Amino acid sequence: MTCRWCHRPLTQDFPLAALVSLRPLRLARLCPRCQARFTRIKSATACPGCGRANSPTLCADCQRWAAAGYPSLHHRALFTYGEDMRLFIQQYKGQGHYQLHDAFEDCLDLARRGVALVPLVSEPKHLAKRGFDPVVGLFGHLPLSEWLTKADTARPQAEKTRRERLATPQSFTATLPAHPAPRVLLLDDLYTTGRTLYHAQQALLAAGYRGEIHSFSLIR
Ligand SMILES: [Zn+2]
Ligand SMILES: [Zn+2]
Repeated sequence: MTCRWCHRPLTQDFPLAALVSLRPLRLARLCPRCQARFTRIKSATACPGCGRANSPTLCADCQRWAAAGYPSLHHRALFTYGEDMRLFIQQYKGQGHYQLHDAFEDCLDLARRGVALVPLVSEPKHLAKRGFDPVVGLFGHLPLSEWLTKADTARPQAEKTRRERLATPQSFTATLPAHPAPRVLLLDDLYTTGRTLYHAQQALLAAGYRGEIHSFSLIR
């Protein structure tokens, strides 16, 4: 196997703990040198509302969401949107390099009993254009609960200014199973303004979901 980012051969160490564990063994898809290029967010000092790095108290954006009546998503993210991450997103989503979809798989060990993992799926137009769903691609190794559908919107989020992103109308609808899990973890690739995740939260609430809704993204 080769590193997903630099394409040099990967040499894997199989730790004894992983071999005797009952959990599925997830191997790193990035070499140590490339792993070091992506900056981890330290959860101890991240914003308790949105997971922003170096904001140990609720940030101004989260205070605005709370003042507007949105329950906190207690969002968590793994990596900052640094230069290599920008390139990763550009190649994965922009240029449609699906082979990058599992680059961070070994870091995304999110399956928990009683928690439905609900991905923020693509709109049909983007899915048809790209040929794959980037969020389902990133989290496809996990048992996903695809409760959300997204209607086509006029323009992609990536082309919008911050103000335009925040003014985006709701485009999610949710369909719940007969006995939904008591907790939901919404999954997305990138948290920018929070608008999309709060829309997903509102769609679940509108469909009658009464459990706890938190969210997670690879990048913040
Ligand atoms: Zn590498
Ligand atoms: Zn925040």
